[in-house]
Amino acid sequence: MKEKRSLSIYNSLSGKKEPFVPLHEGHVGLYVCGPTLYSEPHMGNMRTFINFDFIYRCLRHLGYQVKYVRNITDAGHITNSAGQEIDSIGSAARLEQVQSLEIVYKYNVKFQELQRLYNLLPPTIEPTATAHIQEQIEAIELILEKGFAYVENGSVYFDVQAYSKSFHYGTLSGRKIDELAQETRALNAQDEKRFFADFALWKKANPEDMQVWRSPWGNGNPGWHIECTAMSTKYLGKQFDIHGGGMDLKFPHHEDEIAQNCGAFGCNPARYWMHANMLNVNGQKMSKSFGNFFLPKELVEGTSPLFKKAYSAPAVRFFMLQAHYRSTLDITDEALSASEKGFERLLEGLSLVGGLSPGTQSTIDIYPVIAAAEAAICDDFNAPLLIASLFDAVKHVHAIQDGKATLNAEDLAALTQFFTTMVQGVLGIETPAKEENHRLAGVMDVVLHLRQNAREQKDWTTSDLIRDGLAKAGIQVKDSKDGTSWH
Ligand code: AMP
Ligand code: ZN
Repeated sequence: MKEKRSLSIYNSLSGKKEPFVPLHEGHVGLYVCGPTLYSEPHMGNMRTFINFDFIYRCLRHLGYQVKYVRNITDAGHITNSAGQEIDSIGSAARLEQVQSLEIVYKYNVKFQELQRLYNLLPPTIEPTATAHIQEQIEAIELILEKGFAYVENGSVYFDVQAYSKSFHYGTLSGRKIDELAQETRALNAQDEKRFFADFALWKKANPEDMQVWRSPWGNGNPGWHIECTAMSTKYLGKQFDIHGGGMDLKFPHHEDEIAQNCGAFGCNPARYWMHANMLNVNGQKMSKSFGNFFLPKELVEGTSPLFKKAYSAPAVRFFMLQAHYRSTLDITDEALSASEKGFERLLEGLSLVGGLSPGTQSTIDIYPVIAAAEAAICDDFNAPLLIASLFDAVKHVHAIQDGKATLNAEDLAALTQFFTTMVQGVLGIETPAKEENHRLAGVMDVVLHLRQNAREQKDWTTSDLIRDGLAKAGIQVKDSKDGTSWH
């Protein structure tokens, strides 16, 4: 461990920032609910994964050895906004007339590409639900043994009323059972549940189901929530440090995970529950079901009608981290292009700092800036405050560059180390490799030469086509009396 700093985390369980005390000193067990791979992850999904990647990087920066488990949901029935349990992977497979795992595999390849694009560190383990059916069955058996579940016609349901005699259902979301009753449609005659708040642990197979597993209750599929209980227990234990996910998973998914864990093992699975807030479009949560979503690649390629131009993946990652993970973030062309200017300023600072020469003495104190950045990380992973301190560091870099300030060799080395660690290691913003820049410069020479030829021949259509095409790809061309430049 590095020198001890006191990290505080906003715990959704208490609704307060709390000092972080790990179960085992120097170690953190972190579980984050991963994607359901029935379609390509949208930009909203990516915001949550970027936020938790940042949190993971911060914990490592603070010296913790982190075991980061993020699952992939490739089976199971998900509860939709109307409270119905649906098999979204099976539905997608039937629609595309392929097998369920073909759907999952196709979108997992995309998801892995997106993780590389947005520079997400791979989790320690990425377990799948289908590879843990046995563990899910065992967890259900344990809950049945404890008397918190019942079998009904080949399905198993969690018994919220029985559970409520020993534990408090609603401890995370604050939902009260009688309020839930008013929200939820009345049980109809076909419902097998005894109580409206009961939820499926195991669902009897339907004739159209493509993925079916054998269980003590007959052929069927696991419910949605039980996979996280089974996998978090297997890899992190009955209780671990931090459980995360998007805010929309707080209820019912996380509430039901807590109920399952308490039911099976008598304890809340996590000591700290963290929820990342939503990426919005015009104030509304980006969601596949609202139809207001766009794909990460549309942003990078500049093909979304919502945006006038393309935005590079590091610029988008920076934009995401300019908002605190607990705040909502509205994604607009204006907000992205304003953030892109800051992003370029930061990258400029990063490239300048490496080329500065030390003076004989320091005329400025850079340590308060470094301390502010460290404090921002420890204050519930405050990325916007961290970025603000980096902008203060950029001011110092410019002052030194302009000869208005100097740093001795030791302080300059500290500033350079701080800058690269924070931008690349903690914020996870990688600048394009030198080799790639070099190759791009070669291509741009050719393109601008062709544009110049077109202009000389007064072929404005071609010259505009080149300029607009480059703009879409995020490259601005500027003509001046000294010639043409691009960035
Ligand atoms: P899903 O594949 O729907 O289970 O979602 C994967 C993750 O993305 C979950 O943690 C969700 O909470 C999160 N998520 C879904 N929509 C958004 C959004 N608009 N903004 C941020 N996170 C989201
Ligand atoms: Zn989960």
